Amino acid sequence: MILRPEHCSVHTHCTLCDGRATAAEMAAAAYAAGVQYFGFSCHSPTPSPYDVGFVLPDDVTEYRATVAALQKDYAGRMEILCGIELDSTSALAPSGFDYWIGSVHYLRAPDGAFYAADWDEEQFLSARDRLCGGDALAVTERYFEAVGAMAERKPTILGHIDLIRKLNRGDRLFPESDARYTRAALGALHRADPEKTLLEINTGGMRRGYRDTPYPALFLLKDWREMGGRIILTADAHDAGGIVYAYDAAAEIARAAGFKEASLLTASGEVPCAL
Ligand SMILES: [Zn+2]
Ligand SMILES: [Zn+2]
Repeated sequence: MILRPEHCSVHTHCTLCDGRATAAEMAAAAYAAGVQYFGFSCHSPTPSPYDVGFVLPDDVTEYRATVAALQKDYAGRMEILCGIELDSTSALAPSGFDYWIGSVHYLRAPDGAFYAADWDEEQFLSARDRLCGGDALAVTERYFEAVGAMAERKPTILGHIDLIRKLNRGDRLFPESDARYTRAALGALHRADPEKTLLEINTGGMRRGYRDTPYPALFLLKDWREMGGRIILTADAHDAGGIVYAYDAAAEIARAAGFKEASLLTASGEVPCAL
């Protein structure tokens, strides 16, 4: 059988973090959708007050056991990988997982306060005013500085690299065409290792109605291709209906950037497939 990007979905959440379906429901939905390589990537524990009840506990034993039981249930039918989405503020070491997604969800103030990058407009505006002297582009520069630092840790997958755009429909918070913005975004991308890290094309913001296109923006994808980088399509699924949501839109932007192939993650490593 010819492998397609939609045979793989490895950026997913469940009720063990902030997802709306249980791990068993997510696996069943993936299997029904024809996925062959399915991965759980629950949110790592963080010290953020916003994350209470929405991320894994410090002890991830139950999470690993839940995934291991599902691996047995689906053996021979669908591969299930145990990954994690590691937030940049998490103290958890991303070892002992099949893969890890490195993501930035917060800006940290010098006093330790958290400002969510994707929570709501109020968080962005308070980061702008309290942390960045009213300079909205400085918020994006701070965000991409944290993404660059995460990229240098060489995650298996660099998560939603330009998540800071999530609430920026119509440039309502900052101008995405401004040279300060594009320079900061490219600066973060250039700190990623194209040999070690996959860049994800993530449709999660589309599923939840915030975006009309996936992350990342086309200019970043084009640059990544010129760097020799590889991509993976992901849905950042938080519900059973979102397992391979809008993969066609993700494939379209990948092709527009010049990619001919995407990667699939499997238990025996990365496998390329045509777009
Ligand atoms: Zn995320
Ligand atoms: Zn996620």
